[in-house]
Amino acid sequence: MKVAVSACLLGVPCRYDGKAKPCAAVREFLETHVSPEDVVRVCPEVMGGLKIPHPPSEIQTDLLPEVVVHDVEGTDTTKAFELGAQVALNAAQQAGCTHAILKAKSPSCGVGKIYDGTFTDTLVEGNGVAAQAFIDAGIIVSTEDDFQEVFS
Ligand code: SF4
Repeated sequence: MKVAVSACLLGVPCRYDGKAKPCAAVREFLETHVSPEDVVRVCPEVMGGLKIPHPPSEIQTDLLPEVVVHDVEGTDTTKAFELGAQVALNAAQQAGCTHAILKAKSPSCGVGKIYDGTFTDTLVEGNGVAAQAFIDAGIIVSTEDDFQEVFS
């Protein structure tokens, strides 16, 4: 099994704020169930050309299914998010990934829940731009919160 994993969950300081979000449970699972060469690190926001750090972005969920992403300063970041999703998906597919563990709630990587675009910490149903691309491509996606159920 080859698994694409959000790089920030593996300790890479690639988040918008220049920090990582290392997850011990994800790391332990991968170390015991997946060969190191079968773990594919992806960070769609970096792959889309966003610098670290950068202002946080959210998907304007009131406009879905049209995908529009803005950062907190009002800049339209949609193109970077779409490019990053495509580059990350290409990397996962070229490596033969069938599964992914992605960072929950991120506008790129979130699965099932994302912030609503108002920058008020309001969660709504939805997927990040890259997560949606992975789902559309048939990759089984999960987050650090539910990967154990998805992989069982
Ligand atoms: Fe982590 Fe995904 Fe954000 Fe990159 S785009 S920092 S992998 S949540």
